[in-house]
Amino acid sequence: MIIHAKPFTLTLKNPFGISKNTRNETQTIMVEIKKDGFIGFGEACLPPYLPETQKSVLAFIQKIDPKEISYPFDFELIHDYFNHVDSENFSAKACLDIALHDLMAKIENKTLFQLLNSNPDKMPYSAFTIGIDKSDMIIEKVKQSSAFRYLKVKLGSDKDDEMIAAIRTISFKPLYVDVNEGWKDKRKALEQIFRLRDDGAKLIEQPLPKAELIDTSWLSENSPIPILADEAFQTIEDLEKLQGVYKGIVVKLMKCGGIYPASKIIEKAKMMDFKIMMGCMNESSCAVMAGAALAPNCNYADLDGPFLLTNNPFVNPKMADGKIVLNNNAGIGLVKVE
Ligand code: MG
Repeated sequence: MIIHAKPFTLTLKNPFGISKNTRNETQTIMVEIKKDGFIGFGEACLPPYLPETQKSVLAFIQKIDPKEISYPFDFELIHDYFNHVDSENFSAKACLDIALHDLMAKIENKTLFQLLNSNPDKMPYSAFTIGIDKSDMIIEKVKQSSAFRYLKVKLGSDKDDEMIAAIRTISFKPLYVDVNEGWKDKRKALEQIFRLRDDGAKLIEQPLPKAELIDTSWLSENSPIPILADEAFQTIEDLEKLQGVYKGIVVKLMKCGGIYPASKIIEKAKMMDFKIMMGCMNESSCAVMAGAALAPNCNYADLDGPFLLTNNPFVNPKMADGKIVLNNNAGIGLVKVE
């Protein structure tokens, strides 16, 4: 088995100018693992607000001895080995975990969703992200969302009301609201949530700073729609602490270390009655389609990453009826752009 890893920069589609909260590129590491004539693809996505870098991911991969990973892959053992090599480096683990899943499914001539026992008929609708921006830009972004049934709007700035009003001039799609810890006062937050609910919001992601557990549990208790933890949730160990504080969690492969840890989180979170959103970063089709294979086991999906890029190295996933389509190719189902 041979592991190849190379740095790659994804560029974000932004034909309408860049707001101050929007970056125009994301650093990644793209991985290929080869065995017996098969290639498994993986990706580590590295947003600047998280500690990992291209350098740290490459350093982690260099410490991995392929001889320690025997076939057929036992992902519990593989992650024990990864965690023994380093307790952090979640994106680095995710890119190897994704590539190994793609590889194993290809060797077994199965789709990834078959390997994971996911039912593609249960795919939830995905949401199209509308970042913080001026009204005219918001309207242009909403116009790009025609393949999606839900919009995910980023609030938490002084433009909240203006943004919702701009969206509602041209779209009545239901909203997932992501505040990214942007609200500070729980009572004002609750008033805002009631107004948003009346305006079609179905859930609120991370309204208050992640350290504010007591205020968040008050908000959760009184909110008419579910409050989900994103920044406050990373790995399976966080679930106990968040029970009774949030009604749901946002799972991302890059936060938790890949498909195997995400599937364990989903299993446990379901038993604890959490609602689950499968989310993504600014990822290419590789990591997003890997996450999409688990999305049928979740309540919500926010998997628009590849649709926001100009240089996705893989063909974009197909959308049908506002949902990502899991194709029947072996593995993740990726096709490289030539
Ligand atoms: Mg979020």
